[in-house]
This record gives sequence, C-alpha cells and structure tokens, in this order.
Amino acid sequence: MLIVMKAGATESEIQRVVDVIESIGFKAHPMPGAERTAIGITGNTGALDASPFADLPGVAECVRVTKPYKLVSREMRSERTVIRIDDAELGGDEFTIIAGVCAVESSAQTIATARVVAGMGCRFFRGGAFKPRTSPYAFQGLGEEGLRILAGVREEFGLKIVTEATDEPALDLVEKYADVIQIGTRNMQNFSLLRRAGQARKPVLLKRGMASTIEEFMLAAEYIMSEGNYQVILCERGVRTFADHTRFTLDLSLIPAIRRISHLPIIVDPSHSTGEREKVIPLARAGAAVGADGLLVDVHPNPERALCDGPQALLFDMFEEMVREVRAIAGIVRR
Ligand code: PEP
Ligand code: MN
Repeated sequence: MLIVMKAGATESEIQRVVDVIESIGFKAHPMPGAERTAIGITGNTGALDASPFADLPGVAECVRVTKPYKLVSREMRSERTVIRIDDAELGGDEFTIIAGVCAVESSAQTIATARVVAGMGCRFFRGGAFKPRTSPYAFQGLGEEGLRILAGVREEFGLKIVTEATDEPALDLVEKYADVIQIGTRNMQNFSLLRRAGQARKPVLLKRGMASTIEEFMLAAEYIMSEGNYQVILCERGVRTFADHTRFTLDLSLIPAIRRISHLPIIVDPSHSTGEREKVIPLARAGAAVGADGLLVDVHPNPERALCDGPQALLFDMFEEMVREVRAIAGIVRR
C-alpha cells in the first residue's frame, strides 16, 4: 500500500503516518516529490487494510499497489528520480556518459583514459577493481589497489567513480572509495548482495541480469530500495538470445517499457552488450535515440593489450566521436 499525503501536509503529519506504519510492524518509506509526499509500506505479505491510515490528518488517499514491486514504481513517485552527486547528475536534463576502462590495470592506463573522459566534459568514470570473470584463470582485478587508483582519478580530474562490488567484502571496500556502487549482471539476483547495497548510502548502478525479465529486474531494484537506499540507476547491458552475431542482444525496447512503470533512471551499455568496438558507436547512438538517461562505455588506451574486454573498448578518437554524436542525438530527443 501507498499513502499519498496532501500537497500541504506538514512534517509532523508525515511523521505520524510513519509512526503508525511502524507501530503495526511494517517499514515506512517516505518519498518526497515536487508536489506531495508518498509513503510506501513494505514488510506486509498480504493486502493491507487502509483504515488505520485513511483518517489521519494530512492523508489524501491510500492506494493499493497491484504490482509485486512498489518502491520502484511510478505509482510511488510520479516524477522521475534524479541522482545527484555534488554537481554531477544522472536522470535529469542532461544525457550522462559514464566512461572508462573495463578493468583498472595500472595507474598509467587509468589516468590516461580518465584524462580523455574528463576532456570530453564527462562527469563519471568507470573502472573495475573487482572483476567478475567467466574463467577463474582470467585477470580478477587489482582489488583495493585498483580502488586507490580510482580515488586518485577523482582527486585529479573531479570525476565521480563508478565501480563494481562482486561480493559483500568487496562492497565494504567499494563503499569507502566509490561514488556509485555497481552490481553486475551476474549478481542481479544475488539477494544478500542487493540487501547489502541497499544498506549503503551511495547510489547503486544495477545491471540487468542477462536472462531476466522486466519484473525480475524491477524486483532486484526493489531489494535495494526496500533497505532504504532509493538512489538506484538501472542499466540495460544486453540479454542472451539465439543471435550469434553479437555478444549479447541489446534490448532497447526495455527503455520505454521501464519508463512506463518506474521513476528510476535507466542507462544503456553498448560495450558489454555488443562485445565488439565497431558496434558500440551505432548502439550508443540508438541508446540516446531511444530515450535512455545515459551510457556506460568502455574505453582503453591500448585495447589490444587490455587484460579484460579489449575487443569492445573504444579507442580515444572513437570515444570522442561517439560523445559528439550521442550528445547531438540526445539534444533532439531529451525533454
Ligand atoms: C562491467 O561493466 O564491467 C561488467 C562486468 O558488466 P556486466 O556485469 O554487464 O557483464
Ligand atoms: Mn567489461
């Protein structure tokens, strides 16, 4: 259930509703909006009776939520969620490009890439210190040393750092160093990790599971939000299909489908989906055209020597070209 407060409801009226929700053993999630505050209720397994709330002062209406997910839904929040870190923004008016290395391999490789990313006016830098690799023999990432290199990038270029936490001990570290905690496709249904990310107080970038439905994706985001972390960014990164001309099939139809049901921002990853440099720019353009809030893109100074995902990494000049093109497209389609 969702309690919608009147436009002029006071702080103490909101607090009273929260207290009543908690007194019957449930969790209250107040979400202030531009016009009104809505308070989501979680923790109930069956339908709730509205009578304890309906007549409280300041309450406009009690809405039964029909979908299995609540906090991620448009019913909960009619305006879009914008993630703000200092003066950097995702989900607002600007189209946000998160770019960088697949894996942090060395300080020189990371700094060289960050210089180009910052030079194009981007505000977010990606780079993995903990890598989820298919093979146990593949490069697994530099761990905390990689996080320290990323912290150096923030220091030197003012870029906000997006980096993956592959498990709970990694999340403890990532939370200390990063600005945005990434949860990868293989962990989209790692429920204990999602809950742990929900306890963090930093935005979480959640990638869609490579074989998950929209409802499973929404419920994964709901895990994070149900713990009280409402700063979630969704990412479409391709799904498994019969197609063998591409690493994964980028499901661009997800973006308008998500828009209809959720207030959360959604970005597109043309790198991990295609797996191949030549396909990245066309699909980055498509991501901007379909109305995504931004992109997540791999770039590398020397892709042929990359320790991870070299074939999909853009060369610096390709990246610069891509940024110019997607900004032009986003300028046409964005709000
Ligand atoms: C990544 O972004 O580095 C990554 C491993 O992506 P995914 O989880 O989508 O495979
Ligand atoms: Mn990668």
